[in-house]
Amino acid sequence: MFDKILIANRGEIALRVIRAAREMGIKTVAVHSTADSDAMHVRMADESVCIGPPPSPQSYLSVPAIISACEITGAQAIHPGYGFLSENAEFVQIVEDHDITFIGPTAEHIRVMGDKITAKDTMKALGVPCVPGSDGGVPDLAAAKRIGEEFGYPVIIKATAGGGGRGMKVAMSADQMESAFMTARAEGKSNFGNDEVYIEKYLTTPRHIEIQVFGDGKGKAVHLGERDCSLQRRHQKVFEEAPGPTITAEERAKIGKVCADAVAKINYIGAGTIEFLYENGEFYFIEMNTRLQVEHPVTEGIFGVDLVREQILVAAGEPMSFGQDDLVINGHAIEVRINAEKLPNFSPCPGKITAYHAPGGLGVRMDSALYDGYSIPPYYDSLIAKLIVQGRDRPEALARLDRALGELIVDGIDTTVPLFHELLQNADVQSGDYNIHWLEHWLAENMAD
Ligand code: ADP
Repeated sequence: MFDKILIANRGEIALRVIRAAREMGIKTVAVHSTADSDAMHVRMADESVCIGPPPSPQSYLSVPAIISACEITGAQAIHPGYGFLSENAEFVQIVEDHDITFIGPTAEHIRVMGDKITAKDTMKALGVPCVPGSDGGVPDLAAAKRIGEEFGYPVIIKATAGGGGRGMKVAMSADQMESAFMTARAEGKSNFGNDEVYIEKYLTTPRHIEIQVFGDGKGKAVHLGERDCSLQRRHQKVFEEAPGPTITAEERAKIGKVCADAVAKINYIGAGTIEFLYENGEFYFIEMNTRLQVEHPVTEGIFGVDLVREQILVAAGEPMSFGQDDLVINGHAIEVRINAEKLPNFSPCPGKITAYHAPGGLGVRMDSALYDGYSIPPYYDSLIAKLIVQGRDRPEALARLDRALGELIVDGIDTTVPLFHELLQNADVQSGDYNIHWLEHWLAENMAD
């Protein structure tokens, strides 16, 4: 086992990794920009190294700075968290070339899944059901129009290198194809340096269901059921739960096995998520994330396992601590993402926290790097806290969420907490009756400025 690991991230996810490492008796190294000298992850780690100025390209994304920090401190492994360098195959290759262990999948797994066309081809070949669409890239507008006619509108044009909801455009009809195709291409080029796009049938009322998988890198893999992340704003998740309110035990076992078998076949190592759209009882693969997800705590809640501990174990070459038969669902868990944003426009709202009180009690988990007097810097993601609750069933979890949100105090800045207070009063949210477009419609009706 490692003596010391470095965490190439900040905020709540850096704390999450430090906590797992500490329970395993592993020392931790935090890295930080000059804007984060007073950040909680720096205070909680055993050691810290300043790796550059505030903009992330010069700090949290600076590969030489992170490798140097590892060498200076003698850290044997790097945990990337999510975002930043977590799905950067080139980074993983450089880490491995320096004889440092990357706590995550291999550079090759990341490369294959990072390109959406290759990912889809690979998954199809492994028996995973996919959204109908173009086989591979679509070279020009004429080809795009032919595919639109063939599959029928609406269709979605996606940049193969896209991510975070960028590089995707919907064409509702043939006359929207030109602008959608050109925009998706341009976004792919400007955001990701790659203008290749592909086309899929646009599903109009799907839920977002994702399957958590975990592999030991030696051909053994399990699934940890699904998460329903259908409540989204601008393709970004805001409310996640496990198990999915509409998924039956039979469906879970079936799609779970397909996913576990697929990743076992490619000797996948560590945590991964296979994302699907789910409509009329069918699953359609959209992408695989080769890292720990923001919403992993709901899965940890219902299965009672520590996914970060498990990531560290398999990265160190040790066997997984559970097999498929050990994984039994217990209750229902919900996570809400609390952002430093001002409603109704969700404009970023960094600033100084003048008072902070985290909720507690039975079934409440608060993953956050906030503290009283902390100043949220303006340079990074606006996620400031994840409130995760668990109950014996969904109604109990919802009531607990409402109660816990009521206890939370974050003064000095605006947050998205009022959104959740309102959502919890809604009958559709209470019954779980929504698809991926529901929240956008609700926001348009209820939060227009
Ligand atoms: P990203 O990598 O940018 O997150 P994804 O491929 O995971 O992109 O898609 C993100 C979201 O976009 C999905 O959760 C869903 O809301 C929407 N989406 C993607 N593909 C389709 C599709 N074929 N039909 C309808 N909605 C889609």
